[in-house]
Amino acid sequence: MTSNSSYCESCSGERKSTVAIRFCSDCDERLCKECVKYHQKCKATKFHHLIDLTSMLGSKISISKTFCEIHEDVSLDFYCTQHDTECCRVCIPSKHQSCKDVLPLEVASKHIKNSSLFEDTLREWQNIAKTLDHLRNYRIDNVSELEKSESAIYEEVKNWKDHLIKQINNLEEKLNIDLSNHKKKNIDQLRKENAEISELYSNVREREQELEFLKEHGSNNQLYLKLREQGKGVQDIVKRVQKMAISYKKVHFEEI
Ligand SMILES: [Zn+2]
Ligand SMILES: [Zn+2]
Ligand SMILES: [Zn+2]
Ligand SMILES: [Zn+2]
Repeated sequence: MTSNSSYCESCSGERKSTVAIRFCSDCDERLCKECVKYHQKCKATKFHHLIDLTSMLGSKISISKTFCEIHEDVSLDFYCTQHDTECCRVCIPSKHQSCKDVLPLEVASKHIKNSSLFEDTLREWQNIAKTLDHLRNYRIDNVSELEKSESAIYEEVKNWKDHLIKQINNLEEKLNIDLSNHKKKNIDQLRKENAEISELYSNVREREQELEFLKEHGSNNQLYLKLREQGKGVQDIVKRVQKMAISYKKVHFEEI
């Protein structure tokens, strides 16, 4: 197709603008309804290949004549067997003058649709397409594998974090319990010791007061006897106090 217009090319020669409905791939021409009828009746064109233009809408497939590279306006209508190349009618006298078999393209291409060239080329494209399809699928699979394994690793990291947090919470709880037990044990011990000290303190104060009372109000005899009596127990009390002083060790919590 040589122009983008959708008008009949046959009619446009007669300055008419009619909408083209078919494309003749043999004439490389768009045709309107009337011209199609004529094309199908006329002896010279009745076997031409007409393509429904509506079926070609949006298709990238182009069906048009191929022109000679040297003679740009002349289509490639011949095939030279000797050179294994297509050529135009202008090429023949200049390049293929002495060539034996220069065939019209229709003759050379007569059985092309059943030829091994067609079969082989088609199969080759199919095989390449299949290979490309595989290559594309490998990559698509790879992408989805990466997506999946990313999610799995996220999950794993999250589980690991949860596990660590749980362990840390357990450790904290254990440390708190240990601390509380340790505190209770030490406070109990300190209070027990203080109870003993208080008892001894009262005892000592009592003796002190006895002496002061007897000094004020008692006789010398009474004070003498009291001092003798107190003297028997004083060593015991001193020993107990010394023991308490030596055994006392300030209790504190060890830092972690
Ligand atoms: Zn027409
Ligand atoms: Zn035609
Ligand atoms: Zn040519
Ligand atoms: Zn030739």
